[in-house]
Amino acid sequence: MTPPPARFTRRPEDFTCAHCAARVRGDGYTNHCPRCLWSRHVDVAPGDRAADCGGLMPPVGVLYEQGRHVLVQRCERCGHQRRNRAARGDDPAALAALFGRAVPDP
Ligand SMILES: [Zn+2]
Ligand SMILES: [Zn+2]
Repeated sequence: MTPPPARFTRRPEDFTCAHCAARVRGDGYTNHCPRCLWSRHVDVAPGDRAADCGGLMPPVGVLYEQGRHVLVQRCERCGHQRRNRAARGDDPAALAALFGRAVPDP
């Protein structure tokens, strides 16, 4: 059985970061905290909020691909790993601190 192609669901919502408690203004694409870069495992396909895990997803590394930074996060609870494009408002120092770190293969 082939799963349907992942579609991005745009859903602007503000949230409070579960890790550093920063207030994050959602623009529909924001899925991680721009300050500490932590996220939560709430999506199956990006933006769909269909995962019932809800575990925290700390950043484990930053890659540079096709001219952009890609944030790699791993769920503390179930080990799910995913890649996220870094957002414009992400803290450059936080990104720089992760850049060059060895990223585990999923
Ligand atoms: Zn945060
Ligand atoms: Zn999870």
